[in-house]
Amino acid sequence: MNCPSKVYLIGAGPGDPELLTLKAARLLQTADILFHDALANPRILDLARPDAQRVDVGKRGGRISTPQLSIQAQMIHAAQRGLQVVRLKGGDPFIFGRGGEECMALRAAGIAYEIVPGITSGMAAAAYAGVPLTYRAVSQSVLLVTGHEAPGAAPVDWRRMAGVADTLVIYMGVERVEKIRDGLLAGGLSPSTPALAVEWATLQQHEVHSTLADLPAQIARNGLKSPAILVIGAVVEMSACLSWRPSGSGALPQAACL
Ligand code: SAH
Repeated sequence: MNCPSKVYLIGAGPGDPELLTLKAARLLQTADILFHDALANPRILDLARPDAQRVDVGKRGGRISTPQLSIQAQMIHAAQRGLQVVRLKGGDPFIFGRGGEECMALRAAGIAYEIVPGITSGMAAAAYAGVPLTYRAVSQSVLLVTGHEAPGAAPVDWRRMAGVADTLVIYMGVERVEKIRDGLLAGGLSPSTPALAVEWATLQQHEVHSTLADLPAQIARNGLKSPAILVIGAVVEMSACLSWRPSGSGALPQAACL
């Protein structure tokens, strides 16, 4: 039997291939086999050697996703055969990416692994919208939270989340935005709290700016769907000053700066 190789869990970043780290790009070129998610941009997969085996374990476009245990078993099997294995995940592997579960499985199988962090979509969505997630006196704390709990996990207590941090960055929340909005309002956030939804951050970067109260209606009106990030908090309003990409109308927002 070959000597087992290492598995590299690599963050592919939010979508724009230029937001990949140099380390990720280097390791992709060394892969014999590449397991990738639906959210990893195909242009990033092109960095791998043409003869590298590509295994799509994602679930977009009506296809069924590969069950988590099967992905883990395939990675372990490939590493045991001595192949250089890359597991490419959208954003950062350890932010809502099940990277932790995969490391647990690798560890249990005695396979060495290395994590290459990626730019998580929540940070990228905010940066491309001109929203600084922290800003002195406006946002001293940021919470990354999921809108979609794992089966069997306790539901997110949105009333409590309202008081936990100045700025909330919500992953997988676009389909449950009404429930999230209602919980945050019940928890004491003002209906006029600035809110932002970003679909396909750094690629189409489709942005909807709203208030917390109106966010579900604005998302529905604009047809935003997954993958999308919600950002809620006073700091969102700063995009009026700091936005650096042309909006749909080509003009930057005109609101007064803080
Ligand atoms: N590990 C990833 C998150 C995976 S969970 C990361 O660090 O970004 C999947 C969720 O991430 C999606 O439902 C969406 O909320 C968010 N997401 C991932 N890529 C995105 C993108 N390009 N634009 C907007 N949201 C994105």
